[in-house]
Amino acid sequence: MPPATATQWPAAGPPGTLAGARAQLLHDGSVEHYRRTIADGVDRVVRRVATVQQPGTGVAPADLAPVVDRVDLDRPLGDAGAALDELEDVYLRDTVWFHHPRYLAHLNCPVVIPALLGEAVLSAVNSSLDTWDQSAGATLIERRLIDWTAARVGLGPDADGVFTSGGSQSNLQALLLAREEACAAALTPAARAELLPRLRVLTSAAGHFSVQKSAKLLGLAPDAVVAVPTDARRRIQPAAVRDEIARCRQAGQVVMAVVGTAGTTDFGSIDPLAELAGICADAGVWLHVDAAYGCGLLVSPTRRHLLDGIERADSVTVDYHKSFFQPVSSSALLVRDGRVLRHATYHADYLNPARMAEQRIPNQVDKSLQTTRRFDALKLWLTLRVMGPDALGALFDEVVDRAADAWQLVSEDPRFEVVTRSELSTVVFRYLPTGPGRDLADEANLYAREALAASGAALVAGTRVDGRHFLKFTLLNPATTVDDVGHVLELIAAHAGRYVAERTAADLACHVG
Ligand SMILES: *Cc1c(COP(=O)(O)O)cnc(C)c1O
Repeated sequence: MPPATATQWPAAGPPGTLAGARAQLLHDGSVEHYRRTIADGVDRVVRRVATVQQPGTGVAPADLAPVVDRVDLDRPLGDAGAALDELEDVYLRDTVWFHHPRYLAHLNCPVVIPALLGEAVLSAVNSSLDTWDQSAGATLIERRLIDWTAARVGLGPDADGVFTSGGSQSNLQALLLAREEACAAALTPAARAELLPRLRVLTSAAGHFSVQKSAKLLGLAPDAVVAVPTDARRRIQPAAVRDEIARCRQAGQVVMAVVGTAGTTDFGSIDPLAELAGICADAGVWLHVDAAYGCGLLVSPTRRHLLDGIERADSVTVDYHKSFFQPVSSSALLVRDGRVLRHATYHADYLNPARMAEQRIPNQVDKSLQTTRRFDALKLWLTLRVMGPDALGALFDEVVDRAADAWQLVSEDPRFEVVTRSELSTVVFRYLPTGPGRDLADEANLYAREALAASGAALVAGTRVDGRHFLKFTLLNPATTVDDVGHVLELIAAHAGRYVAERTAADLACHVG
């Protein structure tokens, strides 16, 4: 006899029938099917991870698009094994693998296994973090992790925050709060309408583009974001911030926030946070610190001091999915004064009536731009409970050390020019042709990146510095060795060198002809 509470649904049924559909729902009668299906999926990933020889295959969109388009979404395969077989063709075979030591492109980290365990649990239980009545303990776990992170930042006893989908959303919410604080004195719609176009946000010229995007979403003026110049190490110049605040005031504008970056995406540079905090305190301006990349330093056993001053911020963005080795998505916005989160609060009768707040029932939706929201916090929770913060920090330290070695390697190689030495884990550099092809640097570096990507042997990023094309290594994988970096440099030099040789030979032939 099954237990009296068991759902009297079949564990399986013919595809295309209602019984078959019910068997695909997770319930007490389908748990074996669930276990086997997930295990099958894990096995497919295991096979790939264990055997891939390169970070990608270099597949072109034009090659893969017909394979994806051929799939008839109205004609199901009826079983997960067949769907996984198909998935090999449409996804797994050609995807990009961040665990591979020669994946050196963007801020994608290899992921820790306790977090993957969390991902499996959280999606099966499917808690939604908007209200207590959809999450119970999950709400408390998220709150503990917000408190833990805020304490690591040093934000003080009134700090609060919320998990978000990523750094872009955290930055958006921070600027929303800053805008609302700046508009606090504009009590009438007319006063607010008059103030909005005068609001300005100062950030470094090397800051993240999500600041611009946020300004647009927040209805600020098209020129609301002012890019403040950086020094040679690509850190914002505090004196220039001070001058810009004065200039804005002179011009009748209101600086609603200064955004300091703790780890610029390209250069890994950390703005002088303590100086920014002093300037913002003097001027009465909101300081937001975008630590989407640099937040890994919060757990670094040796480099936490690089974030000194962050504890004076009004709001902080952290991306656990960048430097805490967490799977996408996992990010948070933290604020010094939890009360400002009220700017994101709306009460819906069906969900979170004001009465709930009065009864002190913890509802995270009151603090979030999202409603239904994943329990991403569980991944970090299990990571900390299995590994602890020091172990995570040691992993991040390792990639920062490796990036210093990589910088050394590139800077000593006469074939390359390197920009500034990163405080985190990027290396921005370019191949410098000599002789008759010396003017082809831009094209040669663009070509080398594309040729390398097409080969799939390694993946590197590209960016522009002062109008010129550069290449970028982003190291987030402790498995990447200096030998890997050296090997990728040789591949780049070979691709770029071949491009320059062919172009100069063609030009020569042209002249002779
Ligand atoms: C990556 C990044 C962001 C955006 O974060 P997402 O999680 O990709 O939305 C914001 N700021 C900086 C400095 C970043 O490096």
